[in-house]
Amino acid sequence: MAREVSGTNRGGSSGSYAPGGAVAVENGWNGRGPTNRGVPVNPADPIDLCSNSESEDSEEASGSDQEEEPSWIQWFCSLRGNEFFCEVDEDYIEDDFNLSGLSSQVPYYDYALDMILDNDPPHDVMLTDQQHELLESAAEMLYGLIHARYIVTTKGLAAMLEKFKNCDFGRCPRCLCEGQACLPVGTSDIPGQSTVKVFCPKCDDIYYPRSEYQCSVDGAYFSTTFPHLMMMTYPTHRPPKSVEVYVPRVFGFKLHPSAYGNRETAPPVKQRRAIKKDPEEGLSLGQDADVAALPDVIEGAIALPVGDAESL
Ligand SMILES: [Zn+2]
Repeated sequence: MAREVSGTNRGGSSGSYAPGGAVAVENGWNGRGPTNRGVPVNPADPIDLCSNSESEDSEEASGSDQEEEPSWIQWFCSLRGNEFFCEVDEDYIEDDFNLSGLSSQVPYYDYALDMILDNDPPHDVMLTDQQHELLESAAEMLYGLIHARYIVTTKGLAAMLEKFKNCDFGRCPRCLCEGQACLPVGTSDIPGQSTVKVFCPKCDDIYYPRSEYQCSVDGAYFSTTFPHLMMMTYPTHRPPKSVEVYVPRVFGFKLHPSAYGNRETAPPVKQRRAIKKDPEEGLSLGQDADVAALPDVIEGAIALPVGDAESL
């Protein structure tokens, strides 16, 4: 990698936003303290974020080969939970036109932008621990909002297509979609409204990501538009729609709509937890569970053979 990194202090203590000394190493651009998902994906990376082991490792690495040092964008995209993000071209970020309107949405905008681009921080700026955490959050938010814009450009769509081909966004959990690769989607374009979901282009539905880390990523960083624009842009990657529908059966018989009668539907999740597994007596039902309902449902189902049900 030919990227010049000497201007950052990720690999050392120079150019820090912090007052100096050991604090500077922790709190400068290279602080990269624990964000909400600040755990490196690489198992070789240190997990103990409270120690200075990352800084020490970085110093060793920088001593042997400075060019191996990742950029902030590469580091951010490698964090656990950030697998859905692609690396936004720095040329795109450096074009002010692409960032119009973001300065009013993101606190510490100028500093956050400098952090993302690995620019030298101003020498007269010193940050407290709390300010540094705020700055890191701001940089994450700014990158996310830039990312949402980038992935609907030609280059961004192409970058996300490669990730789609690699199934980096996971597969549809619906059995009848047969492991269809999904795409990330937001349910709101306003940050802070909802977390990212995955969209299946086969069943046209959305699901929670499988990783709990990914479940905490803001959906606005992927926009409500992206997956659908991608399927329009690359129609050859659009799978045929799923036409199969799962049919519930009891002892081989389809359930007639009247099988459930006027019975109440499932109680809220909290009440459902009253149904507990008793290690000695096997499955036991809580007080709220309607034990008598079970035979009736089966009876109603048996009253309607499969042949009749299919004729309806
Ligand atoms: Zn699906």
